[in-house]
Amino acid sequence: MRVVRTVADVRAALDGRDDVGLVPTMGAYHTGHEALFHTARVESDFVVASLFVNPAQFGDEADLAAYPRDEARDAAIAEAAGVDLLFAPSLEEMYPAGFQTWVEVEDAARGLEGDARPGHFRGVATVCLKLFAIVRPQRAYFGQKDAQQVAVIRRMVRDLELDLAIRVVPTVRDADGLALSSRNARLSPAERKRALALPRALAAAVGAADPVAAAHAGLNGLHPDYVELLDLDGATVLAAAARVGPVRLIDNVLLKGSLQ
Ligand code: AMP
Repeated sequence: MRVVRTVADVRAALDGRDDVGLVPTMGAYHTGHEALFHTARVESDFVVASLFVNPAQFGDEADLAAYPRDEARDAAIAEAAGVDLLFAPSLEEMYPAGFQTWVEVEDAARGLEGDARPGHFRGVATVCLKLFAIVRPQRAYFGQKDAQQVAVIRRMVRDLELDLAIRVVPTVRDADGLALSSRNARLSPAERKRALALPRALAAAVGAADPVAAAHAGLNGLHPDYVELLDLDGATVLAAAARVGPVRLIDNVLLKGSLQ
């Protein structure tokens, strides 16, 4: 695996390749990221991972400052998972002086995470469009865990006629059911126990006549930011978010259809 830091080096490394899978990430790799790498490896001749903690998608300075960063560890994990090229740009490479173009996806970015994190999806859509323009992949891989992110990116791809497929990889969970997230490390043991109510409530809602009510009923004292149905190209997921101690957890389950 090669590590490159500039757009020019990505372009040189990809010259002539026409079967490229891109996995956009912010690092702090766990088994969820590895699942994206493995899926990309199976489906694509050449796998690029980007590693960039994108300030534009953080509303909260403290969350950005606390975001874990360990490039050497991430590079070893990416290489072992079959990534061919790791693009780890500087802030200046992605947002050079004078940068002033932003992608605003409208309805898909409203509600749920969009309401809780103003500007978040503007930052996500902008950085993803820029990564797609740099890497020009045939496929890009995203996790089901961030279901609204998938909805936003798919809408952008369609609206701007971007020539790539958006692939969705099922959420990877710990043995206790909690969806893996780099932020879970900030939970104390007691908070982690409380956090388990979120995946349990969502799982219990699958098949219920009123899934939203069933999830609310199973939250065991957790106060959710929202519990809502989200449509993803004909598939329906039940998505929820709740704050537990210092961490805002998000999760969802598929109720109907397929995410592919
Ligand atoms: P991040 O580095 O947090 O921006 O995440 C990079 C990608 O990994 C996103 O597409 C996420 O949806 C995906 N991801 C994060 N956590 C998980 C998980 N537990 N299972 C599957 N994919 C995940």
